Amino acid sequence: MRKVFFALFVCLVIIIPSSAQKNNAKMNAFITNLMSKMTLEEKIGQLNLPGSGDIVTGQASNSDIAKKIKEGSVGGLFNIKSVEKIREVQKIAVEQTRMKIPLIFGMDVIHGYKTTFPIPLALSCTWNLNSIQQSARIAAIEASADGICWTFSPMVDISRDPRWGRISEGSGEDAYLGSQIAKAMVRGYQGDDLSKNNTIMSCVKHYAMYGAAEAGRDYNTTDMSRLRMFNEYLPPYKAAVDAGVGSVMASFNEVDGIPATGNKYLQTDVLRTRWGFKGFVVTDYTGINEMEAHGMGDLQNVSALSLKAGIDMDMVGEGFLTTLKKSLKAGKITQKQIDDACRRVLEAKYKLGLFDDPYRYCNLNRAKTEIFTPEHLKVARSIAAESFVLLKNQNNLLPLKKSGTIALIGPLADATTNMSGTWSVSTDLDKCISVRKGFQNVLGNNANVLYAQGSNLDADSAFQERATMFGRTMPRDKRPAQEMINEALAIAAQSDVIVAVLGESSEMSGESSSRSNIDIPQVQKDLLSALLKTGKPVVLVLFAGRPLTLKWESENVPAILNVWFGGSEAGNAVADVLFGDVNPSGKLSTTFPQNIGQVPIYYAHKSTGRPLEEGKWFEKFRSNYMDVSNDPLYPFGFGLSYTTFSYSDVKLSSSSFKAGQTMTASVTVTNTGNYDGQEVVQLYIRDMVGSITRPVKELKGFQKISLKKGESKTVSFPITVEDLKFYNSDLKWVAEPGDFKVFIGTSSANTHEANFKLN
Ligand code: BGC
Repeated sequence: MRKVFFALFVCLVIIIPSSAQKNNAKMNAFITNLMSKMTLEEKIGQLNLPGSGDIVTGQASNSDIAKKIKEGSVGGLFNIKSVEKIREVQKIAVEQTRMKIPLIFGMDVIHGYKTTFPIPLALSCTWNLNSIQQSARIAAIEASADGICWTFSPMVDISRDPRWGRISEGSGEDAYLGSQIAKAMVRGYQGDDLSKNNTIMSCVKHYAMYGAAEAGRDYNTTDMSRLRMFNEYLPPYKAAVDAGVGSVMASFNEVDGIPATGNKYLQTDVLRTRWGFKGFVVTDYTGINEMEAHGMGDLQNVSALSLKAGIDMDMVGEGFLTTLKKSLKAGKITQKQIDDACRRVLEAKYKLGLFDDPYRYCNLNRAKTEIFTPEHLKVARSIAAESFVLLKNQNNLLPLKKSGTIALIGPLADATTNMSGTWSVSTDLDKCISVRKGFQNVLGNNANVLYAQGSNLDADSAFQERATMFGRTMPRDKRPAQEMINEALAIAAQSDVIVAVLGESSEMSGESSSRSNIDIPQVQKDLLSALLKTGKPVVLVLFAGRPLTLKWESENVPAILNVWFGGSEAGNAVADVLFGDVNPSGKLSTTFPQNIGQVPIYYAHKSTGRPLEEGKWFEKFRSNYMDVSNDPLYPFGFGLSYTTFSYSDVKLSSSSFKAGQTMTASVTVTNTGNYDGQEVVQLYIRDMVGSITRPVKELKGFQKISLKKGESKTVSFPITVEDLKFYNSDLKWVAEPGDFKVFIGTSSANTHEANFKLN
């Protein structure tokens, strides 16, 4: 009987189309009909994504770009801001072109639109998927209210190299955490219906392995085994695809000797065939043209190569626009390849509802009421505070009292335009809250705050110029360094406590901002050292877009709060945490090295055949360094709170299980300190024996819990065979029976463990 019901059910599913299938059929019919009327040139035009160029409100019609739009040579535009401008340009597309196809409008909405959230690396340190999703949701609301329907985010490139400036734009070193965040971001941007006027299409980038650039130098070669790709670097891109991301951006770097833009293995075999991606693929900025410099041939060749690899849209370089017709004639590409790419771009526009209403995202009223609202700023402030990582707090120096005299010192203390961090193209930099302003807001008249800049960002003015581009100005004081230090010491002498606000400027990380030395600039360290010599308590508030090398600071400064770049409300959030209104709960999503020579250093490393015993330093003929231990300075998952947490031993519901069963691992966590707080309880697994070597620990779950002072909670993680799977040497996703260890704790380096078997 059961079998009959099942057969009936299967028949029904096959015969009766679901509403998604019906919508798809409708979309296909619409696009087939549209494409049947399009010329070859118009189809190629849809694949062209120029920058917004010279458009000025009220004069869009006369711009160069308008000419191209009228000819049907433009599929979309990016980084054009405001409803007025976008409406004007859209009007040209839908009224003055033969096919009246609307344009798609993209933008780098990376960590917020006008309301700016912490840089992505910081966001990932919240380990709070709801907060992260909410930041993307608010970004989508604001961007869509301003005419944008497509964002070049999330960036999910795993990076284990803090020299690489773009580590700031991603979620750190871990495939599992990165995958959870990728999904949350896509959900936040796209919601459950892309055609709603407040959801936008997401574009996961940079596919693929961009974060593994050799020597941390931007755009540099990437080369790794397929095993490493599949197990450690590709999962977040796949997670975004599984979450339904609408588009993918190809990366600049080469992979396996072929630039990602022209890499058929990546763009078709993996992305479409293996993962079933149905959306469209766009290049990165002039990605096709750059293949000439990579040594892959002239523009016609590299354009043909990219189309054949699976690229649908060409950002900025116009290789498609200017060469595809010729390549078709020469038989280098097929009509079907052009048609497929055109169809995918049109499908995206269809899904966004642009064919129903090309002005769907152009509502002036929304632009006036839904952007940079007090509610959004409130969320930004709370998420910023949640992203800070307390690295050290000797003798509970923090939180500070809201009284007495405080010396606020450092080149980042009053650096309003640096607060939002890199890649915040739509932010009003001047409206960001500096630390100094945040102190005023939170302290009012309760404490006396004295301020001095104390030092320049860097002793080298040319370096400082490079590090303060794009409006991120920072005053350059011409006085000798010692004179500035003396001024700082004078106010320090009048104060009860010193808050030194140091580190990187916003443009010291981000695109093309690689560094070979990741110390705090020496001139600032000199200042810090002078402040420490006063004997007064010193708190280091550290701005940074990457893990910095902080060995000396960690040994000498009593309290260190790493605040990354917190966005619009950075300064308020810093004050909230320093003065105890918010208890810090951020945990590192990347390992902090002791020195640059340890890079790449990451927690999920392999064992080697000559591992060093834990807790040891040097032993001859072991895998270690003569001059530094193997330990990180601060491990992945680490972050202090104003309170303390204790963990019980790990309890397992059984000591073995098999596929189809669930085992539960649990611990009891107790807040043993003096403040209510939040803790990220982390679960790691080690596969003890494998057909390939397996990492010494891999994150497989986490829960962020709130615990009142004195409170205990039991935290349980279900574990199934899915958590034990990996790609084997045939790139098959398998779990292998045998022995495993499970670890639960407060960081990757501080856990309790238990053993189990998979039968
Ligand atoms: C960056 C991308 C960005 C694009 C468009 C490129 O330089 O690599 O991340 O989305 O520009 O602005």
